[in-house]
Amino acid sequence: MGGIAIVGAGQAGLHLALGLLGAGGGGAAGSPASSGSSGSSGSSGSSGSSGHEVLLVSDRTPDEIRAGRVQSTQQMFAPARALERAAGLNLWDGGTPWITGSRLITADPPGEVARTFGGTLDEPAQSVDLRLKTARWLELFEERGGRVEYRSVTADDLPGLAAAHDLTLLASGRGGLGSVLGRDERHSPHDRPRRHLAVVYLHGVAPHSEEPGRMRVMSVPRAGELFVLPGRTLSGPCTILLWEAVPGGPFDRWQDAPGPKEVLARSLELMREYFPWEYELCQGAEPTDAGAALTGAVTPVVRHPVAEVAPGAHVLGMADAVVLNDPLTGQGSNSAAHCADGYLRAILDRGDRPFDHAWLHGTFASWWERHARHAAAFANLMLGPVPDHVRRVVAAAAEYPEIARRYVNGFADPAGYRDWLLDADRADAYLAAVTGRRPAEG
Ligand SMILES: Cc1cc2nc3c(=O)[nH]c(=O)nc-3n(C[C@H](O)[C@H](O)[C@H](O)COP(=O)(O)OP(=O)(O)OC[C@H]3O[C@@H](n4cnc5c(N)ncnc54)[C@H](O)[C@@H]3O)c2cc1C
Repeated sequence: MGGIAIVGAGQAGLHLALGLLGAGGGGAAGSPASSGSSGSSGSSGSSGSSGHEVLLVSDRTPDEIRAGRVQSTQQMFAPARALERAAGLNLWDGGTPWITGSRLITADPPGEVARTFGGTLDEPAQSVDLRLKTARWLELFEERGGRVEYRSVTADDLPGLAAAHDLTLLASGRGGLGSVLGRDERHSPHDRPRRHLAVVYLHGVAPHSEEPGRMRVMSVPRAGELFVLPGRTLSGPCTILLWEAVPGGPFDRWQDAPGPKEVLARSLELMREYFPWEYELCQGAEPTDAGAALTGAVTPVVRHPVAEVAPGAHVLGMADAVVLNDPLTGQGSNSAAHCADGYLRAILDRGDRPFDHAWLHGTFASWWERHARHAAAFANLMLGPVPDHVRRVVAAAAEYPEIARRYVNGFADPAGYRDWLLDADRADAYLAAVTGRRPAEG
């Protein structure tokens, strides 16, 4: 049979699948390649002589994705957005609020601002509801002649898929299927979630009077964080709340998986006590839809990138299936875009040569070295306990706008943190250079 199979129609799988079609790939053998086309914008046609045939396996149809629950807060920064733009996938730039920067606030004691700093992003970010985005991308893939099989792939299905294709990619996100790849202990310091999560998408949140476009990140020692950011959902612009609750702490109110109205009600209770200024803004809010809430937890893990699922038949992991981080540092969607782009270029560069063992490992290694390992290091650093040098950075950022600006812009490409934040000595050297002071302990 040959061709390329991609399991999972999310941020990474669809970016890659549409990229392969755009580069001249076509629907899988025997597929109704041109049926159902409705004149999608920017379509590059359903087949090409140099392209690989692409099969995408999705456990949900576009309508099921739209009718389902929110999946993320998916803030994407300029470098990842540029990759989507280059691929013609930036279909929601207009009408999606810009995220122009961040303000970080430490509340201690509850309700009082102990420390705050803000910074403007050099280029703004955006958050487009993954339901809106992936449902439409999936339709586009079909309209452009890509073949989709709608079913939930099990581990038992993988040997057949891998044997039937030249390359099989596992892009199934944080779901259980990724565990076929096996945990890489060297890079997986956590064996349980460090935060319990709750997300709710809201209409009717009043804009912040001074900094309407900035994401606000409130933290309370030993309790966790609340992120408030503008986004776009199925029904238009919205405000997204993400609670990152330290397990067992006062923000950990989500274990019974409440629905959107209850997540909002509990959020209001918590905000009234811990962040009264946010409570004021959210008093008139309503969940955007019946699927507007998500609760759960992520155990961060780095997996081995390649699994031999049958003798001589391999699968290659991509994005969350192989490098899964807690969303505290908001890197997963960004990293998924970098992964899809890197894998696409590696596939195209390969031409007609086989996707052998060296290619599989080298393709993952390029993404890992360039992006994924820095995103993982940043997330693990911030999940705590937060090291003293990071506390010193935060304290200095409240005093020196230059440090605040560098910290806030680092989220766009965490590889830049290698030169300072990820290393105590380098961070202190940088702080000393800016402030002219020797670092104080603690
Ligand atoms: C609460 C929360 C907030 C987040 N906030 C941010 C943020 O602000 N910024 C950021 O960059 N990242 C954020 N992330 C992370 C980001 O959402 C993910 O890293 C990103 O979506 C990963 O892309 P992916 O393609 O690997 O997986 P996904 O986008 O999750 O796609 C996986 C797809 O595979 C499908 N699938 C799963 N199992 C199977 C199967 N067995 N068979 C067939 N299909 C299957 C799923 O239905 C899904 O469509 C957040 C995550 C969470 C949980």
